[in-house]
Amino acid sequence: MKVIKKENQTEFISDLLDSCENTVSFEVYPPKKGQKKQFEIIKNTINRLKDLHPDFISVTYGPGGTNKGKAVDISEYIKQHDVKPLAHLTSVGYTKEDIPPLLEKLHSIGVKNILALRGDVPQNVNFPHGAWCDFRYAKDLISMIKKDGRFCIGAAAYPEGHPDCKELRISINHMKEKIEAGADFFISQMFFDNQIYFDFLDRVRGAGIHKPIIPGIMPVLRAKQINKILSLSDAYVPKKLAEAINLYSDNPQSMEAYGIEYALRQIDGLKRQGIRRFHIYSMNRWEQVTKIVKLAQLK
Ligand code: FAD
Repeated sequence: MKVIKKENQTEFISDLLDSCENTVSFEVYPPKKGQKKQFEIIKNTINRLKDLHPDFISVTYGPGGTNKGKAVDISEYIKQHDVKPLAHLTSVGYTKEDIPPLLEKLHSIGVKNILALRGDVPQNVNFPHGAWCDFRYAKDLISMIKKDGRFCIGAAAYPEGHPDCKELRISINHMKEKIEAGADFFISQMFFDNQIYFDFLDRVRGAGIHKPIIPGIMPVLRAKQINKILSLSDAYVPKKLAEAINLYSDNPQSMEAYGIEYALRQIDGLKRQGIRRFHIYSMNRWEQVTKIVKLAQLK
């Protein structure tokens, strides 16, 4: 079925979430190296993910804007291909003066949605001091973007707490602050046990937060890569998944098959409890993501 765009269709993800019960979105990341070939690979990934009719595609951002140019170029490419880009923006290392030109640039290429994050603080930095002081928390960046007035703003949510603040009650208070500053919706950190997400939703709703919290699904496709990611996120890994990661550490095909199966089971479990929105951390692996989307009948 051909999708006909309404003339006045809004570009804000918040409006989409208000009007549409089922959404599927993906996260991609810019190539680490700047070679042309790498850029062609990510373009191909986006073209393939586009075939799945995602509601939006988010583009990650290196702390301190380490991949600023590439992230902007990729957001522009997504926009040019008729998909809503959600540009991540991290504030660590920026001054207040740095942000308006960045917002101007994003707006000029048609980006209307920003995932506003603090970003991780590099280990060698005395935080928060000097230039690192302007945006101590994501809420400070969110306030500034809100004042600009032209963007819909998303923020990060942590079903297991943030690695630096494992007390969920405090983490949920920080979500409230993000909403007060202007956040319209949240995307969750990855989790591998659905009960963690359901318990989190109960706590968050109980605390009076009613903004959408899109679950972030990370398919475990490569053992080495996932071990690195897990060391940053502190996500709980159920015993069976941990055993598979260990067992298949030198067997990429089996790891991938198991990872796809695990993601499918996770999505199925979420669907059974009425969850209708999914944000898949694609890790730029369009073939595997396509399999998941098709088999889970997400689109
Ligand atoms: P904050 O909400 O500011 O939280 C940072 C820390 O400060 C937390 O421990 C929090 O509990 C604490 N805190 C918050 N407010 C207060 C307060 N008022 N008083 C005291 N403590 C407070 N990183 C990247 O570099 N690039 C990306 O593209 C990226 N994308 C992400 C996408 C998603 C969906 C998620 C979940 C994370 C992403 N991250 C990314 C990681 C993120 O930048 C890190 O987790 C970072 O450490 C925290 O960012 P935040 O926006 O949640 O910050």
